[in-house]
Amino acid sequence: MTQTYNFNAGPAMIPVEVMQKAHDEFLDWQNMGVSIMEISHRSKEFIEVAKQVERDLRDLLVIPDDYHVLFLPGGARTQFSTIPMNLLDKYDRIAYVRSGLWSGYAIDEARCYADVKVVADAEPFNYLTIPPQTEWQDFEDMAYLYYADNETVHGLEFNYVPDAGHVPLVVDMSSNLLSRPIDVSQYGLIYACAQKNIGMAGITIVIISDELMQRKPLAATPNMFRYQVQADNESMYNTPPTYSWYMTGLVLQWLKQQGGLSAMAERNQRKAEKLYQFIDQHDFYQNKVDHDFRSRMNVVFQLPSVALENDFVKQSEKAGLIGLKGHRCVGGIRASIYNAMPEKGVDILIEFMREFERQHG
Ligand code: PMP
Repeated sequence: MTQTYNFNAGPAMIPVEVMQKAHDEFLDWQNMGVSIMEISHRSKEFIEVAKQVERDLRDLLVIPDDYHVLFLPGGARTQFSTIPMNLLDKYDRIAYVRSGLWSGYAIDEARCYADVKVVADAEPFNYLTIPPQTEWQDFEDMAYLYYADNETVHGLEFNYVPDAGHVPLVVDMSSNLLSRPIDVSQYGLIYACAQKNIGMAGITIVIISDELMQRKPLAATPNMFRYQVQADNESMYNTPPTYSWYMTGLVLQWLKQQGGLSAMAERNQRKAEKLYQFIDQHDFYQNKVDHDFRSRMNVVFQLPSVALENDFVKQSEKAGLIGLKGHRCVGGIRASIYNAMPEKGVDILIEFMREFERQHG
């Protein structure tokens, strides 16, 4: 059997060691004779899992004590509205950076709640670069400054943390949280869905400063979407997605065994560099993203024609390389190479690309 390498953008590959452990204890967790997905979220056993997940996340990201960590249902997209509902408070304007599809969707949603100012826009540059911060419009006196650190569809990733001055910085790290160390204290709120680097779909991590937690949500905000209500209930205001929470825990333990986020960052850098280097040396493959902002997580590229791209996807699947079709909005090819993708998977992809070019170039 050919080994399968999964390049899907999310739900994405999960480390094989994590899948094996989940498999081993699927029917009988901690000798309880039942699966973890069958036990109460209020049982002492599950509460211990939840606490350990938070401890591990705090360790890995070095989260300061004055930050709350929430594990919420609804995916990242729910945060597109939850964030303005909770953080607008007395403000009436919010600043957003549009660097790709996902920050664009977040802007559309935020417009339901406030006057949104797009202070920097990559759209006129076809999302191939991000305008330098010196050219951004002023966002003083706004509720917060929002951006997406990695644009999963366009393959565009920030290589710096925007300077927001005294305005709180809110970031969507759905497709790159845990891929490298970050300084949490630079942000007011960080969020990420789990199905890329953190585990399986169903749970979203929100890390929010105590200062932002003090803001008053809009009156019509449902309790489920109030950060303070979730914090008061230890993210168990309703029945949480327990299995996704547990899987997150297994991934965090795996990350620690791998040497933590510095080790992951080195590995991710090496994987991405290899792939971009190959693309740059072969005209048959094109990636036009500004080199400073090329994503380490989602490597997008085009072939000389759509017919060749379709054939590339078909042939790659036969070779055990799945999930390489680009997002339906932009087409092309996309290789998502999150934490769980071993370096060997990237090597095999490069060899496949070399051979495909030899046959069709
Ligand atoms: N933000 C980014 C950067 C994403 O990549 C995605 C999903 N691909 C989302 C938000 C939306 O996530 P979800 O499907 O969990 O709502």
